[in-house]
Amino acid sequence: MRDYAAEPACRMLFLRRQLDDPEVVDGTARECGRCDRCGGAAWPAEVSSSALEAAQSALGRPGVELDPRRMWPTGMSAAGVPLSGRIPADRQAESGRALGRLSDVGWGTRLRALLDGTAPDGPVPDDVLGAVVEVLKGWEWHTRPATVVWIPSRSRPQLVQSLATRLAQVGRLTLLGPLERVRETSPGTGRSNSAQRLRAVHGAFAVPGPMVFDGAPLLLVDDRIDTGWTITEATRVLRERGAGAVLPLVLAVDG
Ligand SMILES: [Zn+2]
Repeated sequence: MRDYAAEPACRMLFLRRQLDDPEVVDGTARECGRCDRCGGAAWPAEVSSSALEAAQSALGRPGVELDPRRMWPTGMSAAGVPLSGRIPADRQAESGRALGRLSDVGWGTRLRALLDGTAPDGPVPDDVLGAVVEVLKGWEWHTRPATVVWIPSRSRPQLVQSLATRLAQVGRLTLLGPLERVRETSPGTGRSNSAQRLRAVHGAFAVPGPMVFDGAPLLLVDDRIDTGWTITEATRVLRERGAGAVLPLVLAVDG
């Protein structure tokens, strides 16, 4: 987008170049004659200070809404997983929240540094916790959550456990503990599809024997969400064991 805005020549040629248009590649493409560069129209690039302030405020405000999965992927039964069609309402997660998107200019920069593959695991930093608390304050839930469960993390166990623990302290919620990992899961391979991701996590989590639920909504904490199938599977397991509404809360949305 920045390159497009700064493009000194025909903007249509710029777009066609981005799309590997063969006529650009072989040199036969011509300027469009209609864009602002071709037509000589000059549009003001100044932004009013009030618009700038509003944009900065919106970008700095933490919180991204997460829509729950509502359908199981097709073809699961062929893969030996007996899930198909619509996810029953009492097995679906509620709308969730993330602090930010990894690609955002707002909280994304901070989250990328925290979740980068080379960054060491550690307790949740105070500034990040503070921002997550702000997200919780702005969350207009039907019923306030009463308990906290977290998804055991292979890569960032301290981060996820400390986030869940401190949220429980701040919000005076009952910390129920982590789900149990009963099977190894292969890490996401980036572009794998929904059926592959669900098959990778299906049956991987169990509710620990001593964990009991009172039917109140619970916060389900994880560090990041990509395809959403880990959260969806964890929610299914929790609700089948009698948990009330499950509200996913993660630090980052991939992408
Ligand atoms: Zn043009």
